[in-house]
Amino acid sequence: MPTRKSVATLPTLSSPDRVVYPDAGLTKRDVFKYYEAVAPRLLEDSGERLMSVVRCPNGIDGERFFQKHLGPAFGKALHRVEIAENDGKRAQYAWLDDVAGVLALAQMNVIEFHPWGSRVKTLEKPDRLIFDLDPDPGIGWAKLKAAAHELRDALAEFELQSFPRLTGGKGVHLVVPIARRYAWDEARDFSDKFAHAMEARAPARYVATMSKAKREGRVFIDWLRNGRGATAVASWSLRARKGAPVAMPVTWDEFARVRAPDRFKLRDALKRLDAPIWDDAGARDQRLPKAADLH
Ligand code: ATP
Ligand code: MN
Repeated sequence: MPTRKSVATLPTLSSPDRVVYPDAGLTKRDVFKYYEAVAPRLLEDSGERLMSVVRCPNGIDGERFFQKHLGPAFGKALHRVEIAENDGKRAQYAWLDDVAGVLALAQMNVIEFHPWGSRVKTLEKPDRLIFDLDPDPGIGWAKLKAAAHELRDALAEFELQSFPRLTGGKGVHLVVPIARRYAWDEARDFSDKFAHAMEARAPARYVATMSKAKREGRVFIDWLRNGRGATAVASWSLRARKGAPVAMPVTWDEFARVRAPDRFKLRDALKRLDAPIWDDAGARDQRLPKAADLH
């Protein structure tokens, strides 16, 4: 008897009772079910992007692995492509576009999904920028929020609309959709200049270089997410942190009210599966300003 393909290709789950989040009492089955439910939302943001992952084979308190090269062990539900890495060496990467791919990774103990900033068919043309706001430990949530609003307004001066994502960790990402017409170097160059312009405008509050020493009491505007091969956590990805927080896109209205960057836990995320979140359709062809217009 022929088997139905959709059923045959859904990965099965092994070790369903293994504890993944000891503090929250969540098992591998809970994680798998979570990803089954959120797959359409995850793929909306991260489908057709080269994917790196964080795997925790022994739960979040065990050893963790950040992996970029997802080989045959990850199963046939992933699509693979060989590309040149930035040093010229060729390597196999994977991308996904359906629930079977998402679940194949959940079965392989993937907790976090970290996609590229471009789609696989237009690999050399990013379709969004991400400014990752990393607060120094002394910076409270209220100050980080004010910083996000200030960056939003500064981007708006360049007619760039941005959208907030709570990372599920300590910070927030400002996501800026852009037209797929700029090379990685152009995207990176704008991001670099923009972050440094913010630092120049308010050096007591912002820092645009990695240097730990300069970060004290400031928000680090990490613009390095915008180079070829760099990744950032996917919207709807769980984080491998206590409480099972989720990297959650929010509207600016929600952002203004939200209590913490790890406010949305696994169960909260499942309750907003149908919520319209980013009204970004009109922002997908945004143009970057010319270098001469940056000051
Ligand atoms: P937070 O709000 O707590 O800062 P975050 O997701 O922004 O959360 P960061 O530590 O600021 O976390 O960002 C690290 C980023 O670097 C990740 O989003 C990931 O995509 C990328 N990355 C690249 N290599 C690694 C690695 N080996 N381990 C972890 N992350 C890596
Ligand atoms: Mn960050």
